[in-house]
Amino acid sequence: MNLAHLLARTARVFPQRAAVALGERELSSYAELAGRAAVIAGGLRGRLGLPVGARVALLMANCPQYLELLFAIWHAGLVVVPINHKLHPREVAFILENSATSLLFVGTGQAAAGTAEHDPGLWRDSVPGLRIVAVDDADYRQLAGGQAITVTPRAPDDLAWLFYTSGTTGRPKGVMLSQRNLLAMTLSYLPDVDQAMPSDSILYAAPMSHGAGMYSLVHVLVGARHVVPASGGFDPQEILVLARHFGQVSLFAAPTMVRRLVDQVAEQAADCSGIKTIVYGGGPMYLADIRRALEVLGNRLVQIYGQGESPMTITALARRHLADRGHARHLERLASVGVAHSVVEVIVADADGRPLPVGESGEVLVRGDTVMQGYWRNPEATAATLRGGWLHTGDLGSLDADGFLTLKDRSKDVIISGGSNIYPREVEEVLLRHTAVAEVSVVGRPSTEWGEEVVAFIVCRPGASAPREELDHLCLESIARFKRPKDYVFVAELPKNNYGKVLKIELRRRWSESGGN
Ligand code: AMP
Repeated sequence: MNLAHLLARTARVFPQRAAVALGERELSSYAELAGRAAVIAGGLRGRLGLPVGARVALLMANCPQYLELLFAIWHAGLVVVPINHKLHPREVAFILENSATSLLFVGTGQAAAGTAEHDPGLWRDSVPGLRIVAVDDADYRQLAGGQAITVTPRAPDDLAWLFYTSGTTGRPKGVMLSQRNLLAMTLSYLPDVDQAMPSDSILYAAPMSHGAGMYSLVHVLVGARHVVPASGGFDPQEILVLARHFGQVSLFAAPTMVRRLVDQVAEQAADCSGIKTIVYGGGPMYLADIRRALEVLGNRLVQIYGQGESPMTITALARRHLADRGHARHLERLASVGVAHSVVEVIVADADGRPLPVGESGEVLVRGDTVMQGYWRNPEATAATLRGGWLHTGDLGSLDADGFLTLKDRSKDVIISGGSNIYPREVEEVLLRHTAVAEVSVVGRPSTEWGEEVVAFIVCRPGASAPREELDHLCLESIARFKRPKDYVFVAELPKNNYGKVLKIELRRRWSESGGN
């Protein structure tokens, strides 16, 4: 098997169907897209001489080349390493080095301005012999102008995508997603999330380096159109214009994005009939927000709950459940993340992995064909997360009698701001580099705009002080901008338990009781 067959098959069946558009401009048909992927694959194996299984990284904002590169890399039997282009150059360097990437494609032009691509000094030398190709220069045109090759055979368990998560230990971990994992994810979209159709257009409003890019697969499978917004990102006005233009538009959006889209539609009494489906997930959607979204946008929403380790595929809250207003437990269901995808088993278990009865809270465990192979070159973390044949998600929740899962909290302590995960430990380690900082604890505080925002509680050394500007500066030097604390709170001591562990729950409680002061 090889995921590249999905594209080759669609191109044979529907060669003339529109495949890729940049804004309203149609760029290629399926025959052209598949042809380019096969030729670029030839260049990767021939001209660049990459061996099967080599890692090829993508560091770019959403752009039309993203799609042809994903499929070219698989076609050539290689492994794709998509990197969030908003990461700090040091984080990019770590991922390139850790994955032992041989070749890196970078984006250029407007959409990439001000991102890591523009400060390559820090990562250019991270891997000896790393080759870098910008997608709009002569090297790329040469690569796309040679001989096509046939699809390289791959086994179901062969690695297809190395997905880097933010690690709880401050270092990102490479989630190993196999061909089988991504195929199972793709097939389960159709019964559990949405009946994608050839007449649909999938719009890439969220980063293609994450779930939005993974959803390209099912839309290639059915022969839908792929629309990359000209802005390269999320702009509610642009989405509405493109939806009116193409009609039958689907998109993946983090809860923050849904909220902004809802505001835009409500403010302008805008026509959103061109939107078919908004799949939301990646972070908690509060009950009031989903009720308003359904009121303003109508019955266009589907929720998914997943994590890199079981990509986009743990549970789904279907359109019909969101619409079933007459159901006795409608509100509970709206606040839930829905029922298990059809390709996985989901249980809630106690600390020993024993299933808990209906209604009791415990850790959410998953097993099935979407569950990762493990963490790249990290057997300890793999063994800890894939214990007893189950993926331990680190999320806490409970199941009801009908199989609806409600998430309570995250045992991993991750802060989710605007759909991006921020691990407190990573920020804490940076702040501790300041000589005046004795102790620090980072927590999330609720934010209507972002879901959560980062706040740092700091204990200074006696007689010393840590000015906010200096702390900001430290963060900007080594972690992505969106991870920098929005507030610093200086305290005499941190609340701790008997083992000396900081009580983050207590810190969050103090923050809300003080009214944010
Ligand atoms: P990532 O691996 O970056 O995709 O982050 C996955 C984590 O995001 C999960 O383990 C959950 O904690 C959280 N998450 C994902 N989807 C949802 C959802 N629909 N509702 C609440 N939290 C979610």
